[in-house]
Amino acid sequence: MKSGKVYLVGAGPGDEGLLTVKASKLIQSADVIVYDYLVNEKLLSDCRNDCEKIYVGKEPHFHAKSQEEIEAILVKKAKQGMLVVRLKGGDPFIFGRGGEEATTLAKDKIDFEIVPGITAAIAAAAYAGIPLTHRDFSSSVCFLTGHENPDKHEFRVKFKTFAETGGTLCIYMGIGKIEPICQKLIDGGLPAKTPAAVVQWATLPTQKCVFSNLAKISSVVNHDGITSPAIIFVGEAAKKKKQLHWFDSKPLFGNRIVVTRRNEQSGELTKLLENNGAEVLELPLIKITKSCDAGIADEVFKEIGSYEWLIFTSTNGVKYFFDVFLEKFKDIRSIGFLKIAVIGASTGSELRKFHIWPDLVPKESSADALGKALIERESIDNIKILVITGNQNRDTLIKKLHDERAIVDTLQVYKTEKTDLKNHPAAKKFREEGADAITFASSSAVKSFIDQAASLQMNKEATKPKCFSIGKQTSDTMRKANIPIEAEAKKATLDALVSSLIENL
Ligand code: SAH
Repeated sequence: MKSGKVYLVGAGPGDEGLLTVKASKLIQSADVIVYDYLVNEKLLSDCRNDCEKIYVGKEPHFHAKSQEEIEAILVKKAKQGMLVVRLKGGDPFIFGRGGEEATTLAKDKIDFEIVPGITAAIAAAAYAGIPLTHRDFSSSVCFLTGHENPDKHEFRVKFKTFAETGGTLCIYMGIGKIEPICQKLIDGGLPAKTPAAVVQWATLPTQKCVFSNLAKISSVVNHDGITSPAIIFVGEAAKKKKQLHWFDSKPLFGNRIVVTRRNEQSGELTKLLENNGAEVLELPLIKITKSCDAGIADEVFKEIGSYEWLIFTSTNGVKYFFDVFLEKFKDIRSIGFLKIAVIGASTGSELRKFHIWPDLVPKESSADALGKALIERESIDNIKILVITGNQNRDTLIKKLHDERAIVDTLQVYKTEKTDLKNHPAAKKFREEGADAITFASSSAVKSFIDQAASLQMNKEATKPKCFSIGKQTSDTMRKANIPIEAEAKKATLDALVSSLIENL
């Protein structure tokens, strides 16, 4: 049997982008991932479908598994010949018990490697604008633990000694004891006015920072309800420097925004919102899957040369049409010389992915505008048109084409179904805490949102969201459903939708 190996891997502080390339590759190839409470679960989405994921907890006051149990899992899985990734928040060797795990592996003669990660203090300092060293006021950095020795009820660290370093102190796991820690530092000789800062959930959209001084920081922390996980910074470096606040000054920082697009497609909008600092709740309201009657597709493809126009009314239409088409034909040129119209810019972009340029893209993204643009361009009397659809039909467009006496065929290539939101974490958070905004990027997203209303009932205390629409058609559907519209994007594009959120939140 091939011998297994354990990688002790640092997952970084939370922001997915702060994972090393090496860690990312290991996550993709692991047989087993053993992970902690502070590991961002989004990082696990890149693992293999058959990868076993073992959560071992370690939340404060709640240990899902003891340290011995964790080590036993690592040894057992490696002995079974597996590639084991032991994924830890931050860096494995900074308050991560990586040393103990590596020692156990060495004793058991198990092959291992250690992959460092960005530790919380380094990340929190960067994201809160705290330069840990500075030529003028800090020549050293200390990483300390604020944890007490459980047997003796005294601190493991002699804070008094560290008060004398004159550098920046970064205190992990200290938030529950911040008052006595600050007092010890003052007793050790640090002036009560020494700057002190606390950063909670560093690098994530939920990051919170407070700045004060040694004497007052604990009451600020209590007042603002800051709890673990958080890092305490002490020293001149921890002075508030507004001009260094690049992260929490992003335009959508502090806003929780719901994305109601289909799961497969939400990525782009989510990325745009996150780049602007928002916390995104992706509600996968519907599931979209390929759905095409092979017999009908065969008939249509046999006659593909007889159509004058091919119309795509959605990006999914493009994606699944070519899925079906390229299963049958190897060469994209088999589609012939028909003209192609798309409903809007994003459907056009999807088409360009297949190196096909649309002949007609109406300025406005709506079925109405598409019909109108086609009729204005040329007579469609007695012309054969193929419309690619999902299971929700495109009556308005088809009626318009029929009115102009076109011969219209439709080909369904995908279907849309409701997802189960009862136990979905994002839906749960939405029900409990609400959101600052909901984005609707299509009429079908509005309809699915209404369909899912029963699973999205918010608590009384939850923040009531403002609703944003991507364009005219979506707004019409929202009005019909009595959803108040805070703003409609100036153009029906994701960029414009994000701009309207920035202007109105
Ligand atoms: N190995 C980890 C530290 C684990 S100890 C690392 O290198 O970062 C757990 C402590 O780390 C928490 O109590 C908190 O003090 C700190 N911490 C971890 N992630 C954090 C985050 N995103 N923001 C602020 N503090 C964090």
